[in-house]
Amino acid sequence: MDIRSLSLMVVEDQAVQRQVAVGMLRSLGVSAIHEAADGYQALDALRAAPESPDVIVCDLRMPGMDGIEFIRHLGESKSASSIILASALDPTLLSSVEAMARAQGLSVLGTIPKPLSRDRLGELLGRFERPDLLGPNAGQPRASANELEEAIADGQIVAYFQPKLHVEDGTIAGAEALARWHHPRRGVVGPGEFIPLAEECGLIDALTWVMLEQSMDELNTWRRAGQDWAVSVNLSLPYLEYNGAADRIAGLAERHGVDPRHVVLEITESLASANLAPVLGNVARLRMKGFGVAIDDYGTGYSSLKQLASIPFTELKVDQTFVHNAKGNRQREAILASSVELARRLQLVSVAEGVETQSDLSVLETLGCDLVQGFLFARPMAAPDFAAWAEI
Ligand code: C2E
Ligand code: MG
Ligand code: MG
Repeated sequence: MDIRSLSLMVVEDQAVQRQVAVGMLRSLGVSAIHEAADGYQALDALRAAPESPDVIVCDLRMPGMDGIEFIRHLGESKSASSIILASALDPTLLSSVEAMARAQGLSVLGTIPKPLSRDRLGELLGRFERPDLLGPNAGQPRASANELEEAIADGQIVAYFQPKLHVEDGTIAGAEALARWHHPRRGVVGPGEFIPLAEECGLIDALTWVMLEQSMDELNTWRRAGQDWAVSVNLSLPYLEYNGAADRIAGLAERHGVDPRHVVLEITESLASANLAPVLGNVARLRMKGFGVAIDDYGTGYSSLKQLASIPFTELKVDQTFVHNAKGNRQREAILASSVELARRLQLVSVAEGVETQSDLSVLETLGCDLVQGFLFARPMAAPDFAAWAEI
């Protein structure tokens, strides 16, 4: 995405600071810039404009309507604009407002401490993606169960692969398979839209199956290229509630000639609502057969210490909310450090997901985290693109 083609709005009460921001944006090549001196002015301008700006750079402390109130209005009106929060406030406060904005469904590119830096502004703008490329395919009608069922049968569900790298030397440890729907009309649809649907309407078994098959095929491609990388596949809890799940996965591995030690199964959701006995039985059996099992999104509401105590995990994936922009944020750094330490003491492989910047990576190097995954290295890619990226 060329940032010069973006349309921007700067909401800032201090005229001088507003001019500084506008000047920096111009020097980055942005020409479509709208200015507003507070939340009221900004909302009026947004209502009057035929299209919302791509990105709104918003100050938090403003007389009249402050940034927090302004963001609440944006959330209520389901604004399609992405947000950059700028403020001289304490970084903890800034990230709490960031979380608030995300909780309202807004897309937040990041926060920027004042005085503004041109490099940071450019970096955040570089993260912008057109809303129609985002996961939930905003504005599109939701898919139906029938459509998804046909898509699975028709091979439209495609495994993309995102590399996991050793922190120590940057070499590839493996890749996570992430589902994408190659939709004939809508292009590439992200999992946020169809995984919950698949779970609701009993299609998750079929979907997981095609993901496992493609992942094991890919594993064999890597093996033929002389690489002993591991593949990680996400398992929904409903899939593990079926008593025969572990045996089916093991059977598939055997048919593919795949060594279970090269397959990691990632489990995200809370066990609280699950039919516990078959899930625990399946996980124990998978471990006995040599598969790896990861606790995904560790630290979020779904993945807890209780889970760690009851399941024989081999890998702990710290959720991206504690990884990205951890540097300088006391809470995130503490949670990240204690998660990596916990993994070490439990003898689990520690993985940080959502590594987007060099500074995210340097924190993890200091903490001694084992593996990293994130946009800094590569986005999830279709199998041929992954092979090209990995030079095999
Ligand atoms: P997850 O398993 O935690 O996967 C990581 C998600 O983080 C992926 O989103 C990935 O594209 C994204 N990600 C990776 N690096 C970065 C980064 O540096 N910054 C940011 N902002 N994001 C990053 P994706 O592919 O949209 O998948 C979302 C979730 O959907 C997955 O979260 C997983 O829970 C679920 N999912 C995906 N594929 C499958 C599947 O085959 N089966 C099941 N049951 N769930 C799946
Ligand atoms: Mg995962
Ligand atoms: Mg995750």
